[in-house]
Amino acid sequence: MKTVVCVKQVNGELNPFDACALECALQIPNNEITVISMGRPDVSEMLLQLTRLGNVRGLLLSDPAFAGADTLATAYVLSLAIRRVNPDLILCGRQAIDGDTAQTGPALGALLGISVLTNVLSIAVNDKGIHCRTRLGEEEAHFPCLATMERINTLRFPSIRSKVKEVSVLSAQELGADLNRSGLAGSPTRVRKTFESEQGRRKCTFIEFDQLAQILKARAGMRKNILPPPTSSRLSAVTVVGRELTEIGKTIGETVHIIHTKNPQEILEEIRSSGASFVLFPANLWGRRVAPYVQAHLQTGLCADCTLLETDGRDLFMFRPAFGGSLTAMITCNTRPVLATVRVFEEASGEIILSAGLGAAPHADDLQKIAVAKGYRFMASRGLVDRLGLPYPLQVGLTGCTVAPSVYIACGISGAVHHTCAIEGAATVIAINPDRNARIFDYADFGIVGNTVDFIHSFC
Ligand code: FAD
Repeated sequence: MKTVVCVKQVNGELNPFDACALECALQIPNNEITVISMGRPDVSEMLLQLTRLGNVRGLLLSDPAFAGADTLATAYVLSLAIRRVNPDLILCGRQAIDGDTAQTGPALGALLGISVLTNVLSIAVNDKGIHCRTRLGEEEAHFPCLATMERINTLRFPSIRSKVKEVSVLSAQELGADLNRSGLAGSPTRVRKTFESEQGRRKCTFIEFDQLAQILKARAGMRKNILPPPTSSRLSAVTVVGRELTEIGKTIGETVHIIHTKNPQEILEEIRSSGASFVLFPANLWGRRVAPYVQAHLQTGLCADCTLLETDGRDLFMFRPAFGGSLTAMITCNTRPVLATVRVFEEASGEIILSAGLGAAPHADDLQKIAVAKGYRFMASRGLVDRLGLPYPLQVGLTGCTVAPSVYIACGISGAVHHTCAIEGAATVIAINPDRNARIFDYADFGIVGNTVDFIHSFC
């Protein structure tokens, strides 16, 4: 069997999700593996090292014309190379940890015209295809197919005796790439600026553990208005895929057209036939799988995981977390339709959420018990859901749930934008973290500098 693993180098290292994808490929018996990367010439050193891991050869796609690629142009160049290899299976990481769009894999599958399974947690190969457990359930796909892998394993080390093998390098010309579809020229999306966003910031008052009960009593049941105010200028028409984005659509559009079907092909046809110029998808697992499919078929730009949309009446300015959530990027798109996946707000609820992050990992069970005993809803950061394999519906974050409780208690959560943008709807945020400088305190109304054990004791 032949497998291609798409690997991206991020800050000189193999993207961690791609390391998992490669380990999955290595675990498949009798597998001929090609690791493909689009990157600078020095990426060949990383690929060379990967060839030591088994029946692996490397293919580097490197050309100045590939620089500045967005996900559409990246997927296009990768698709040209993959067609040459003609594999049964293509594995990608769920996402790269810099761009973080998770769009390249599904767009690549659409360009190749093959089935795509995203967010794969386990994979079993049979003669005809793959059977996977994904974050969406049990799913199957026939060869040739593509899967994007979650962080489910650890890449093996090469044996001491292993030798490096071959890494081929292909330029744009050797690949037969259309320069208008490659690199910056083939990229409809543009990063206009990156900045530290003030969105969702709160003024934190530091308290002690013994003040917690009183604050919880006073704040329980409160609700906050979670929709952004309408922009002063509006687009004449906005299309939303699914009812849940209607209110967001109204904040930027004079009229909102709703696409009701969940069938990707029908969504594509409806966008084509209606001549829609601005289309919003929910930034949930489903939307993040379908939107790149539509993008690839329409050859247009897609902005991932928007937390804010603004318009001057003609153009759409899309704001999204970047660089692991430390910054916010403003993106525009120079093709039509403009596509975006956008966070979906949950109805404001009077409940209290107790949420645990990686910092609370050893005590997650105890926190869950406290939540049950007190009638709170237990939730977790993406890091903890990934680490402990918790059910996906527990995940708070841009790509998980966007919550709006009366009180959100963040325990051992560092506070990346991907998380804090999903708790803006909370009437009160209380953060507990031993690090006084943790970012979460900038997004909390009350902060306790302390550890999870003391927090648990304060409830006993
Ligand atoms: P992802 O789509 O997150 O990666 C998923 C998987 O695809 C990886 O795990 C890997 O298996 C494979 N893969 C990705 N890149 C490569 C590669 N070069 N070689 C081999 N395999 C690869 N682009 C957009 O289209 N929309 C945006 O909204 C957007 N926002 C951005 C914001 C910022 C601040 C920056 C710096 C870039 C942004 N980009 C955006 C560009 C995007 O980061 C790049 O296009 C990148 O080449 C691919 O996307 P990604 O890093 O998000 O990868």
